[in-house]
Amino acid sequence: MPPMRILVTGGAGYIGSVTTATLLARGHDVVVLDDLRTGHRAAVPDGATFVHADVADRAVVETTLAAHDADAIVHFAASSLVGESMRDPMAYFGNNAAGSIHLLEAARAVGVDRFVFSSTAALYGTPDDVPIPETAELRPESVYGASKLAVERVLDWLSRTTPFGAIALRYFNAAGATDALGEDHRPETHLVPIVLQAAAGRRDEVRIYGDDYPTPDGTAIRDYVHVADLAEAHALAVEAATPGRFEAYNLGSGVGYSVREVIDTVREVTDRDVPSRVDARRAGDPPRLVADASKVAAALGWAPRHSDLHAIVASAWAWHQAHPDGYADRP
Ligand code: UDP
Repeated sequence: MPPMRILVTGGAGYIGSVTTATLLARGHDVVVLDDLRTGHRAAVPDGATFVHADVADRAVVETTLAAHDADAIVHFAASSLVGESMRDPMAYFGNNAAGSIHLLEAARAVGVDRFVFSSTAALYGTPDDVPIPETAELRPESVYGASKLAVERVLDWLSRTTPFGAIALRYFNAAGATDALGEDHRPETHLVPIVLQAAAGRRDEVRIYGDDYPTPDGTAIRDYVHVADLAEAHALAVEAATPGRFEAYNLGSGVGYSVREVIDTVREVTDRDVPSRVDARRAGDPPRLVADASKVAAALGWAPRHSDLHAIVASAWAWHQAHPDGYADRP
């Protein structure tokens, strides 16, 4: 694959920054566009050009795409919290759905026709069968999921009506870190960093959202996939996007772990105590989400290299210890 010039929106965020590093390592030229609402300037890898802007700023996006003669877009920039999306639906349809439409208008205006989209397992709501294949019914149970599904529909129709090739990647639970890049959300809502903060004494306890699920230990089961594996899948996808085709792929390890198993793994990895207490279920959390990732394995040759939860947590702990204040302690 000859090197491409790629615009990565949201490249200052967690998965976007790791993907930017992976694309650079594969010889591609990367421009990161991020408004730093939730991303960190320090997370943008050296070697990428940085543009501080919102994806909905059509003029800036168009100028950036044209100035860099971009071949492709990998679109991460979005709001991504399920609970927040239920409290502020218009912000989510605005940022995620309308924002993506403005970005796509700019792409079409300058003739960029390869697109990789950051999608989510939240499209499936509570699935009938687990592991979940891409053919499962799409019935999101949150505004967040609905806003992502809306964009998938736009991409599908664009690929049918124009020479536009798009791949949507439906992530299960991203976790882990590379040596340089890790997870730093403010406020933090994700399980692995929260449990690590409790292990480090930076949080009093972990609240377990529900222990009355129909699972072996009563806590919810998720499929944790290493962020470096997600990044590799984006690189394979942008290299494989084909004009006139839309494809959606699940990205998960195919293995599920319960909330209690995650807490136990953190205790093992850190050799520290993790105080926890059971709290009410969080609205909209299905009991069990595990990917059937066989489609992406067959189509792109992708398989996670780090499906072992112990290794994923160990990488996140190493980053946490090296950056106790996240990106705040970096210039
Ligand atoms: N969870 C929990 N306590 C927390 C955060 C999360 O029990 O403080 C549970 C949550 O209910 C879900 C799982 O951990 O079952 C993963 O949640 P996370 O927010 O990390 O990802 P999501 O599955 O919502 O994308």
